[in-house]
Amino acid sequence: MATIIPLTDARLPDAAEQRARHDAFVRAAASEATAAPGPLVDARGRPLHDLRISVTDRCNFRCVYCMPKDVFDSDYRFLPHGDLLTFEEIARVAKLFVDRGVAKIRLTGGEPLLRRNVERLVEMLARLGDIDLTLTTNGALLAKKAAGLRDAGLTRVTVSLDSLDDATFRAMNDVDFPVAKVLDGIDAAAAAGLAPLKVNMVVKRGMNERSILPMARQEEVEAAIAAAQRAAPLMAEMPAHRRSAILGGAAALILERKEDLARTIAAEAGKALKFARIEVERAASTFTIASEEARRLREYLLKGGFLFVSDYWGDWAKEQFDEQIGLALPPNQFPIVDLPLNHPIWHTLFDLKNIPQMPSIQSWRRTGGNTDRGVMAPPSAHGIADSDGHLMVVMLHNTDIPDGWEREGEDPEYFYRFSPDSYAVGINIVLYAMTH
Ligand code: SF4
Repeated sequence: MATIIPLTDARLPDAAEQRARHDAFVRAAASEATAAPGPLVDARGRPLHDLRISVTDRCNFRCVYCMPKDVFDSDYRFLPHGDLLTFEEIARVAKLFVDRGVAKIRLTGGEPLLRRNVERLVEMLARLGDIDLTLTTNGALLAKKAAGLRDAGLTRVTVSLDSLDDATFRAMNDVDFPVAKVLDGIDAAAAAGLAPLKVNMVVKRGMNERSILPMARQEEVEAAIAAAQRAAPLMAEMPAHRRSAILGGAAALILERKEDLARTIAAEAGKALKFARIEVERAASTFTIASEEARRLREYLLKGGFLFVSDYWGDWAKEQFDEQIGLALPPNQFPIVDLPLNHPIWHTLFDLKNIPQMPSIQSWRRTGGNTDRGVMAPPSAHGIADSDGHLMVVMLHNTDIPDGWEREGEDPEYFYRFSPDSYAVGINIVLYAMTH
């Protein structure tokens, strides 16, 4: 049976009283050995997946919008240490939540890295199971702590950063803290593999509006270059007409008249294309691969390459392809997994409600139907990921998605009936591959 947790509205007059009741609830929960059964839901019946835990109310910054100096001065009374939950209490409360459906825990503060030995808490929480364990920090101590946090089991971090301009950043944090140290922290987190790393920016009128574009541009250029590096090998796998269709559809959406960015991407893509030369353009249903090709395909995929497979129909073709791709990516190490409709790849840009089934244009001309080669089974989607969870191969079985853009110009009826869905699938996959 589901448990409903009431929420406190801090703006209400009796908020302090409610808060005291909830503190009592949390402490009582922490002392309970077992949880009641059933998932946790909010008052509207929505399941709770994410839990934020504030481990301290203290911070070494005095951001003007959060802890202004005139309020949080030397007389301000922070919570006494004895009032904070111990690591053991936090871990017990967290376990109750995880047992009941919470899959992501975010540590926050104040500044969570100020809590002494917070790595030990991370280690305790990491042992709770297969959860996404993350932390939001101002980055001041991140350069020192990133590797230790990763070793303790943290999966990623979000860094609050309000400007790349040193003077503006110092004015925003109001303790004269230099932005270079936060950037060092971000580099250390990236080097430690705490990824994907996210940056939060608060914009305050009159203080850091001018930092928005440089910050967005920095993020954008870095993301675009990374995307180009991933996309270039994918494009290299395709004949020119498919490449131009996808570049025309997806990349134009991303680039949107940003000419400098387009040039940067083109340059990066050009470099990457020079070493991406594997020929895998062949029918998936009769796909066979020699051992040297398998080695090179594996190398290409593990370097960040991407392979999209479609237009293979029926059980026999699937068995054939699965067996052959297994020569490059052994299934004991790289299992083939389902990509259900709630996977983010189906919602990157277009919100797909199903995997469309579409025939090759030749088959459609013959039958006018949705299927091909006498197959009546519905389409299905599968993928293979690397050890970090990045999809390297996406396979759409019992459907010929690429004909929607390869053959769209041959028949207006075929175009109107199949190409919009086909583009939605293709663009979602390309965007996902370029950004993950
Ligand atoms: S770093 Fe975060 S917690 Fe600290 S004062 Fe700034 S916004 Fe508040």
